[in-house]
Amino acid sequence: MRDTPLRFGTPLSPSAIRVMLLGSGELGKEVAIALQRLGCEVIAVDRYAHAPAMQVAHRSHIVTMTDAAALRAIIAAERPHLVVPELEAIATDLLVEIEATGVAGHFPEIIPTARAARLTMHREGIRRLAAETLGLPTSSYRFADSFVETQTAADAIGYPCLLKPVMSSSGKGQSLVKSAQELKAAWDYAQHGGRTGAGRVIVEGFIDFDYEITLLTVRAQGTGGEVETFFCEPIGHLQKAGDYIESWQPMAMHPVALEKSRAIAKAVTDSLGGRGIFGVELFIKGEDAWFSEVSPRPHDTGLVTLCSQRFSEFELHARAILGLPVDTALRRPGASAVIYGGMEGKGVAFEGVAEALRVPESDLRLFGKPESFLKRRMGVAVANADNTGEARARARRVASSVRPVKA
Ligand code: AMP
Repeated sequence: MRDTPLRFGTPLSPSAIRVMLLGSGELGKEVAIALQRLGCEVIAVDRYAHAPAMQVAHRSHIVTMTDAAALRAIIAAERPHLVVPELEAIATDLLVEIEATGVAGHFPEIIPTARAARLTMHREGIRRLAAETLGLPTSSYRFADSFVETQTAADAIGYPCLLKPVMSSSGKGQSLVKSAQELKAAWDYAQHGGRTGAGRVIVEGFIDFDYEITLLTVRAQGTGGEVETFFCEPIGHLQKAGDYIESWQPMAMHPVALEKSRAIAKAVTDSLGGRGIFGVELFIKGEDAWFSEVSPRPHDTGLVTLCSQRFSEFELHARAILGLPVDTALRRPGASAVIYGGMEGKGVAFEGVAEALRVPESDLRLFGKPESFLKRRMGVAVANADNTGEARARARRVASSVRPVKA
């Protein structure tokens, strides 16, 4: 890790702190804005033109992020001080190599660490770390590479179980399997729905949780100069088909479950190391907590922090990676609700925005994605209130007032 703090320079001049975002979606866009407010020069990278973060970055590049050679060339040319992954599917072996030996005599810092990016790139690395190395509670699980192996795994785990491609997120390719008869369809779906197509799956025992949370955990410079761990208030969320549709903060929790959740989050993030924000996903039942997943970066359910915290998860990430102090305090109870495209097409328009923003204490983001799909997240509504119940009702009202229409 760097031992001298960065000096804050002038963007587009030799004194600039240059930050390269690998992934330029809506989460990256907010990180880009937060970095720019602190005077950084931001370079956005993604596989398609006009991605959300590219629209606010100083420069952008279109690269397939699993293409190690192309990625290396861009890092060598741009010489960023910090490389900040925004998604899982990156040539992480390249990041490991660059962290160790640099590129063209230049040593960018990989956020939070290259190992964290590699381990969280697919479900197997992080699951084995959490359950087998760290001994944390998780659902029971087995990995399988063929349908026959999947049958054996599901029989051992029992029904209901979940079948997920190891290279997937947000419910893509994922099925809840209630009986052996449903297994073949789930296998076929997993082979088509994952990020990189066919491949290994994880079979997970179903956890009949009361609710699930994201515990945003920040590793940032503390007062003594050492990296310390800071927790945000827990975020509750609602998932539909594995994708988040609503989140709220704070989620009221049994103090024992909260304590266990923090201990799990601390163990995982200590092991991944580096600086930055982590979204630790946990399942909660009564006083018990199970580790589910972790993102070594801002988390989509954390969009609620745009309204609920003094500093959003994006601002916290920017501060943490720049070696600055953080403040994870809640400002006021809040909620977020996803605005889906609801249609297929390029250059869609949105009606009802003025009506939406008449809802008290509300705000929204329209991400500016060039192309809409039925279930593509095109925006998010956020709202505050005295309690999360009212905040959720308000955020839903905002989201449902925004109507995507053909341009
Ligand atoms: P994931 O893509 O692994 O985050 O899963 C998406 C959602 O599916 C989670 O947020 C849960 O709502 C649900 N889910 C995933 N795994 C399990 C499990 N083992 N037991 C119960 N529900 C699960």
